[in-house]
Amino acid sequence: METLYQPTKASFEETLLQELSIAAPWALIERFTTLVRESGSEDERIAAQYISDRLSEFGVPHQVYTPELFLSVPISASLEVGGQTLRAKAPSCSASTGPEGVSGEVVYLTRKASTGVGDFFDFSADEALDLHGKIVLVDGMSVPKAVWELKQRGAIGQIYINPGVDIHWGTCTTIWGAPDLDSDPRQPNTPVVNINRPDGDALIKQVQAGKVEATIRTEMKEGWFPCPVVVAEIEGQVEPERFLLVHGHLDSWDVGIGDNAVGDATLLELARVFHKHRDQLARSLKIAWWTGHSTGRYGASTWYADTFGLELARNCIAQVDIDSPGCRWATEYYDISWMTEAEDFCIQAIRDVTGKEAAGERPHQAGDYSFNNIGLSSFFMLLSTMPEKLREEKGYYPVGGCGANIAWHTENDTLEIADRDNLMRDLRVYVATIQRVLNNPIHPFDFRKLGAEFRETLDRYAAGADNSVDFSMAYQALDTLQGALANLYERIPSLQGKPINDPAVRAVNEAILKLGRILIPINYTRHGRFRNEPATPVPPLPDIAPAQELAEAEGHRKHVIQTHVRRGLNRVTWAFEQGAEVAQEAY
Ligand SMILES: [Zn+2]
Repeated sequence: METLYQPTKASFEETLLQELSIAAPWALIERFTTLVRESGSEDERIAAQYISDRLSEFGVPHQVYTPELFLSVPISASLEVGGQTLRAKAPSCSASTGPEGVSGEVVYLTRKASTGVGDFFDFSADEALDLHGKIVLVDGMSVPKAVWELKQRGAIGQIYINPGVDIHWGTCTTIWGAPDLDSDPRQPNTPVVNINRPDGDALIKQVQAGKVEATIRTEMKEGWFPCPVVVAEIEGQVEPERFLLVHGHLDSWDVGIGDNAVGDATLLELARVFHKHRDQLARSLKIAWWTGHSTGRYGASTWYADTFGLELARNCIAQVDIDSPGCRWATEYYDISWMTEAEDFCIQAIRDVTGKEAAGERPHQAGDYSFNNIGLSSFFMLLSTMPEKLREEKGYYPVGGCGANIAWHTENDTLEIADRDNLMRDLRVYVATIQRVLNNPIHPFDFRKLGAEFRETLDRYAAGADNSVDFSMAYQALDTLQGALANLYERIPSLQGKPINDPAVRAVNEAILKLGRILIPINYTRHGRFRNEPATPVPPLPDIAPAQELAEAEGHRKHVIQTHVRRGLNRVTWAFEQGAEVAQEAY
């Protein structure tokens, strides 16, 4: 297949790669080993100031905003069982119990085991057990989907048994960023604690032997707190209004070196290098360090989407999330998040600058992917990771960062988790991908691949619907869309040598951005453009995914699902038609 990236700026890319140095990144990492960057804290403010100071030294223009973010910061937690007090950690957005705690009978609920990072955010469990008025004990980490479902089932408290000897911090709310009128009712409002495997095993034994009463005590700091948000802006020379947004989170659990001081260091080095060579950038680069990632559930990136939503919708070419790069033993590139239209582009860039083959997947409804409702093409969240074999040898269970090191979200995420060589290699990947988006004449996103993905998705859902809903109008519109995309992308090779401000090049790029605005929301969201989604897994074309249940459904339930899917098919078909029009107008 004809690639959308043309190495017209190969020598410039080499200059940028040569410019990369470990000095500024490693100095930041060492400084951050002394800062517990809890959101809203003095250490977080010092960390933001450190970045602002370095940017000033390098001459990089930047803003420091101070929005009020909604945070829930765990202060203390414990679990009392039979006169014994077990060590516990409350996730962000657990309820505060007060000193008396919440007491109840413990019931043990078996859940489907998580097998890989792909299942990490998912949850399913035995549905027969009555949880009303009970404290539920369950294996795994307190992911939002689990906490929400078990609260709905009537549990008054929840205890999660983490897989190893360490207890991991995290967040348990499904509310994305600051709550609004739609999402505020989804506050967990129930106490949640995590305990470790040995304590959990002993507790399971007790519960299986007879009735066990437990008391959960949690204390949280909750409310709206001012938090610093640093955004660097490096202006392009030809099309300055168009920009790439590259970002990562500044806040951490404890000193959080692998998650995410390494990412903060990476962003700083990218700002230094791209600013130094800004005279050769066609388009603009914005680099953001978010706060409230952990205790505000992507607070600052959501605030940014809320505050600059229209600007993002009009002019943002794509967003790139940088979380946990350059960690110890993380030498391979698989399980990487990217949207389908960016896949070939990412694989090629990684191969070109590291010699390694990469494999990726649909981005999870996680990380600072706070821009899906706007419809921004997106790539990367985590990047390099440990070889599968090494993970197995070490007996590591899946975690959500740190290159698969299980120090993730614990007190053990210290300096030894960062690796200079891996960080420098990952920096090469970021430099190449960013340079190519900023300078390639045509935006390197291949929506023909998304069209093909839509067809597979429709086929899967239509098969599951068992002829009880008519998919034909969606198929017709998709035929038209795919035909229009084929014609549009056929034009691209003849445009690649032209300047970026050539009217024909601009028209095709405009179409590519609009295609994203139309086709990404239907593939990742159920709500409106400037709204957001709950932090629970989202299937492809989520409006029509319930079609898969139709073959099994009966009576009222069947009618409800049919109604839901028909409405969803209208939304999806309309988007296919709009996408086809945009593509047709551009050729
Ligand atoms: Zn992270």
